[in-house]
This record gives sequence, C-alpha cells and structure tokens, in this order.
Amino acid sequence: MDIGKMYINGEWVTSGDTRDVICPADGSVAGCVCEGTAADVDAAVNAAAKAFPAWSALPVTERAACLLRIADKIEALAGEFARIDTLDNGKPLRDSLGDAYDSAACFRYYAGLIDKPSGGTYLVPDPNTQAMVIREPIGVCGLIAPWNYPLMMAAWKIAPCIAAGNCAVFKPSSLTPLSTVRLFELFDGLGLPPGVANLVMGAGATVGRAIAEHPGIDKVVFTGGTDTGREIMRAAAGNMKGVGLELGGKSPCIVFDDYDLETAVDWALFAIFCNQGEVCSAGSRLILQDTIYEPFLKRLAARAQAIKVARGDAEGAEMGPLVSEAHMNTVLNHIETAKREGARLLCGGHRLTEGEFGKGYFVAPTIFADCSPDMAIVREEVFGPVLAVQKFSAVEEAVALANGTVYGLAGGVFSNDITRALRVVKALRAGITWVNAYHPTFAQAPWGGYKQSGIGRELGTFGLEEYTEIKQININLAPGPAGWFAAGNAS
Ligand code: NAD
Repeated sequence: MDIGKMYINGEWVTSGDTRDVICPADGSVAGCVCEGTAADVDAAVNAAAKAFPAWSALPVTERAACLLRIADKIEALAGEFARIDTLDNGKPLRDSLGDAYDSAACFRYYAGLIDKPSGGTYLVPDPNTQAMVIREPIGVCGLIAPWNYPLMMAAWKIAPCIAAGNCAVFKPSSLTPLSTVRLFELFDGLGLPPGVANLVMGAGATVGRAIAEHPGIDKVVFTGGTDTGREIMRAAAGNMKGVGLELGGKSPCIVFDDYDLETAVDWALFAIFCNQGEVCSAGSRLILQDTIYEPFLKRLAARAQAIKVARGDAEGAEMGPLVSEAHMNTVLNHIETAKREGARLLCGGHRLTEGEFGKGYFVAPTIFADCSPDMAIVREEVFGPVLAVQKFSAVEEAVALANGTVYGLAGGVFSNDITRALRVVKALRAGITWVNAYHPTFAQAPWGGYKQSGIGRELGTFGLEEYTEIKQININLAPGPAGWFAAGNAS
C-alpha cells in the first residue's frame, strides 16, 4: 500500500511515523499516511514564507488561471474524489460526488472574484488628502479542517486563501486525509509554485497545535468543534495571529402548521439525516407547532425508518456509517443520555449490527420527541443522526426555543406566511438561515455563525476578505511641511 506523503515546498516528504486510515463501513484499513510533527509544520511555514513575496506579487490573472486549472481538474476527477471521500469518511457516493463538484465550484468562484473591485476611496475633512483603502494578503495562513467534508473543507479554505495571495499550511483531519493527498497531487502537476500550498498531516494535539501556536503564521482558520476552537484561540494569542473559526451548532428547524405537512417532513428529514447528521449546520432540533405535532411526528418517524442505511459505496445508499468507532460511541452516549433524561424515543436509538453492519459504525436514524430545553439532547451537539423535537404554540415561544442554546450557526423556518417567516428568521441569532428550505449552500454566500458557532465567515466576498489585511493610504495633494512645530528654534 502506498503511503500518503506530506507536500512541503513542492516536494513529497515522509516523516518517521505513519497512521492507518480506517474505512468506517467495515473497519478495514483504507490507506496509510505520514504522521507529521511540529518540525514538519516549521518546514511548511518556512516554505510558505519564502513563497509569499512572489506569489502575492503575481498578476491576479495568473493566480486566477492556476485556480481555474485546479477547478477543471477536480471536476474531471470528481468520481475519483467521491470514491476516496466515501472510503475514509463513509458518506454515500452521491453526497461525496456533490462535494467534489462543490469543491471545483469554490476554486472557480474565487478565481473569478480576485480581479473584481475591492477597497475604496474616502472623502475626509481635509480636501487636500485623498484617502483610500486597499486589500492586501495577510501572509502565511494555517488552515485546519475537520473530517465531515474532507475535500470540500480543503477547498473552502485553500481556494480563497491562495486566491487572495497568501500561502497556506493545510492540515486535514487525521481521520480523513486521503482526498487531500490527491488534491495536492493535482497542485503538484498544475503549476502551483513550491511553497504556496503545503500539506502537513497528523494529530490535532501535535500538528494542529503547532500550527495554532506558530509565530510564523499570521492567521489560523479552523473548522471543527467549539472546544477545539477555544484551544486554538488561546494558542493563537502568542503572536496575536488572526483567527477564523467555523464551529459547532445545534440548529433549529421551525415548522408552522400552515405549511404543507408532507413537504415539511421531507425537509426536516433532510435537515438532520443528510450526511449522517455529521453536518455543523444540521437541523438537529425540530421545533414543531402543537397543532400538527403528533401527525407530523408519525409521518417523520415512518420516513426516517425507511431511509436506506448502507455502506456509502452501495447502490442506492442514503445514509452511511459514522466516521469512526470513537465517534459512533460518542453518538450512542448522547442517545443513552436522552433516554435517561426522559425524551420519548420515536425511532432508532441504537447501533445497527445485523450482518455486514456489524463490522462498521452504523447508527439507525434516531428521533426523540417531547424534549425540554434543559435536556442535554437539546443543548449539546451530537453530530450524528439524532433529532430532538420540541413543541411550541406561539411564535415568540418558537423563537425563544430556537435561540435557547450557546450556538448560533444556522436555522430554517417553514411557513406560507412569508411576513411571519421573515420576522422569525430575523429574530434568529444565527448566521445561516433558510425559509421553506434547509441546507442549500452556495460558494457565493457567506458561511459562519453567531455566538459560540464561530468567528468570521467563509465563502462569498466576505470569505475572500477574511484572507486580507486592510491598508489605509492617505495622499497629500498639497505637498508642503506639516507646520505643527515651529521651525524658528532650530539652529
Ligand atoms: P475537531 O475539533 O475534533 O477537529 C477539527 C480539526 O482540528 C482536526 O483536523 C483536528 O486534528 C484538529 N485539532 C484537534 N485538536 C486540536 C488542537 N488542540 N489544536 C489544533 N488543532 C486541533 O472536530 P472534528 O471532530 O474533526 O469535526 C467535528 C466538528 O466540526 C463539529 O463540532 C462540527 O460542528 C464542526 N464543524 C463545523 C463546521 C462549520 O462550518 N461551522 C463545518 C464542519 C464541521
């Protein structure tokens, strides 16, 4: 078996250790990659710093051309990328294929954005001063990604980072590094200068931490759990590096009784069970109007039980295994706590073990009804196929329940009364919202959360600005002395 190497300064390098990558569908070894150290981070940071002057000075058209070549190649190899992500993450092939196309779209979007107008000119009180603001790249950025969208998270970070003229040190999750290794093989063959994008692999506690602490890194952009985000902020304080954090969520999906029940059931199902519920923005709390509560739940549970759970590469698979045995056990613990705390189990609530399932990390789609705000299942992120349902009667109650967690990533509202839907969406303390839909995400629109769901935004024009510094330039249009201190006393 080939060992996936790290890519530093345009060279494929190994390190002393290796790590097996496990296929969560059956526990088999899917691949093996180098396990890096803090010294590899040093080497990658040095390479990035060396590459920065030339890369940031390259005409934007040439940087854009590079990104477009990457986008085209990802698209051409979408099927291969999909198979790789399904192998180490477990998600169904149709999901990972969508991720590959979205990743290509992200590189293409930022290739098109970088030569568009940015900055501005300002009228200041002194008519002899022309003030303007320009955007400049930050320098070396450390990028740390989670395992739930392996290729796409790499694209969301690397594309805007290098498009803006920065150089990158990227670390994938150690659970799902395989598609990133393949992505860097494309970089290698497509004319990306050495050092512009570097790949370092390894554990969060060593390699991730070394990136967050490194004095040669000017900004760290991280997607992952809220507790890890807190650690990264602390580690980043040493050299006051900027931080961008995309963290966890416990997002509400609110359904009013005027909306078509069958359609809302379909979206609520998609909101939580898409990607096995391993989605930061998952609609993991369903907030249902009391007038439709029981019929809605009956239909929802029936639909959830009909979801085709299978290994991600099986024909017609709709939901795959969870990413690892450890994560599955975490999810099962959340389920047991919810049972203990008195939530009403409507379906699922257990690991799937019959036949081939027994080798993998499969959990049945699970729904708990009659959840109260104090229950852990309502407050804590599960990051798996587990839905908590709450009931409301008045609009204000729905909003209060929806906003009742420390998170503020996303939220959806279903109602035919568009003024009411918009009022509710505006009252949500969340960065990503939908009306009569849940989940659609586009490279053009900003992604990120309020409260403990993060700092900053990815994607869209905001996502590019996150990778820039703001420089103020003032030009004196009437050159002459400042005249503040009297010149007469000088000899
Ligand atoms: P995680 O926080 O455990 O790990 C994320 C990354 O950080 C991994 O690469 C890991 O190796 C690294 N890491 C771990 N400890 C570190 C440390 N001390 N210093 C530096 N790096 C460290 O998260 P995960 O389990 O990979 O992913 C699941 C979490 O990610 C969920 O909470 C989910 O909500 C969140 N997530 C958020 C978004 C978003 O856009 N808001 C998107 C996807 C996932």
